[in-house]
Amino acid sequence: MSELHELSLKALAKALQSKAVSARETSEHFLKRAKAHTTLKPAANPFQAPQHLGDPSHSSGAFVSFNEAFTLELADQSDLRIAQGTARRLEGVPIAHKDIFVTQHFPTTAGSKMLDGYCSPFDATVVTQLQDEGMVNLGKLNCDEFAMGSANENSAWGPVKNPWDNTRVAGGSSGGSAAAVALGLCPAATGTDTGGSIRQPASFCGITGIKPTYGRASRYGMIAYASSLDQAGPMAKTAEDCALLLSAMCGGDPDRDSTSLDLPKEDFSRDLHEPIKGLRIGIPKEFFSDGLHAEVRQSIELALKELEALGAKLVPIELPKTELSIPVYYILAPAEASSNLSRFDGVKFGYRTKEYKDLDELYRKTRTEGFGEEVKKRIMIGTYVLSHGYYDAYYLQAQKIRRMISNDFQEAFKNCDLIAGPVTPQVAWKIGEQNTDPLANYLADIFTLPASLAGLPAMSMPCGLGASNMPVGLQLIGNYLGESRLLNVAHQFQMATDWHQKVPGASK
Ligand code: GLN
Repeated sequence: MSELHELSLKALAKALQSKAVSARETSEHFLKRAKAHTTLKPAANPFQAPQHLGDPSHSSGAFVSFNEAFTLELADQSDLRIAQGTARRLEGVPIAHKDIFVTQHFPTTAGSKMLDGYCSPFDATVVTQLQDEGMVNLGKLNCDEFAMGSANENSAWGPVKNPWDNTRVAGGSSGGSAAAVALGLCPAATGTDTGGSIRQPASFCGITGIKPTYGRASRYGMIAYASSLDQAGPMAKTAEDCALLLSAMCGGDPDRDSTSLDLPKEDFSRDLHEPIKGLRIGIPKEFFSDGLHAEVRQSIELALKELEALGAKLVPIELPKTELSIPVYYILAPAEASSNLSRFDGVKFGYRTKEYKDLDELYRKTRTEGFGEEVKKRIMIGTYVLSHGYYDAYYLQAQKIRRMISNDFQEAFKNCDLIAGPVTPQVAWKIGEQNTDPLANYLADIFTLPASLAGLPAMSMPCGLGASNMPVGLQLIGNYLGESRLLNVAHQFQMATDWHQKVPGASK
């Protein structure tokens, strides 16, 4: 048998069910690997957030906390169930969670000093759903502070390094999740996508990730960034693995999340093996503009040829408002963030400044010291666009264009079944390279934002290596509730190619 971390999640689940390996052995294997790639300052007690010690060279920066005793307890329970013949679908398979999902048995920080030491009294619905399928929680994963970023350089616990090249970013905001899966530190991870944070790091690290239709996965217990955009989704090596995970993660939660779609659980693996002959794939001309780097363009074009060889028909389409998705998103997301983040005031939870004269100073000093620069910038922008006198000019206008962006997609879907194109204009950039140019980071979101603003399901899968030997991701965008179709196309592509099997040299 291959080493455990080389197996797909599906193969690992099978090995566990057949008792070829025990859940304890499996968790110990992944914990050992994860710890070898992590440098944490030991916490005084397990409910305090352990912190990264700067950015030591042998640390990937992917994991931010462990609770080994709890992980092994879950693994032992899985072994008992397997022995008793009551194993659930994913019994004993480890998973790690983006540190934006609240967890009872691990600290939750959302990559922010503001939540240092915070431990939630409950688990996020997504965490519970995966645990209810038998999955074992391995630990928490680094992310951009409150999920704001495209490079995972905005975390209070340091950056996440790209497993393919340690000097490059892993992508963000779910960079810890993408790097951990690519390095084989866990077979799967959860991520969240507000404007591309599952697809973009998946693309940068050479793994597969899907953001479902807005409302599919419960947002209960997912620390809010921009509530009308935030969605949870799985990140794993293959589309087949993502389908297994997504089937566990979706299902209505209307009592606890008012935007949750009240739909029964679905089996997203059901269409994986359907042939894609005759499928109409829309190619938006705006996704192939001058800003697209040559190495990305080349890989994408080859991937599209491969889809054609599998019987799909490529149809030229237009998404004319693509460019406007950047200003629209960077008005709406900060507006929602400024409201969501007002709860972090030093009174209710998390960090509190040491000295203060009165309540005003307590608020001001706590927020000044607790939030990082990017978060503070967005709170200020958000407060500005919502303020009396500017609301109509910015916020309302952006909402109107958001609707037009959704309408463009519906127009396009009259002529195609799904849409394909690049995830980002470029491969992962060097750590620190874009720090001097705040706009550069935002511009890199151009191809992921439209689907987010429209609330459509979208995914990324590896489709090539660029000239710099860095992974390139192909984006697939479906119509509402079209996840099964996306996963079907991705699976057929992965049956015919081996880009998803390529691993970074660093993991060897
Ligand atoms: N890069 C985008 C931002 O910074 C998207 C982040 C996300 O999807 N969480 O807002």
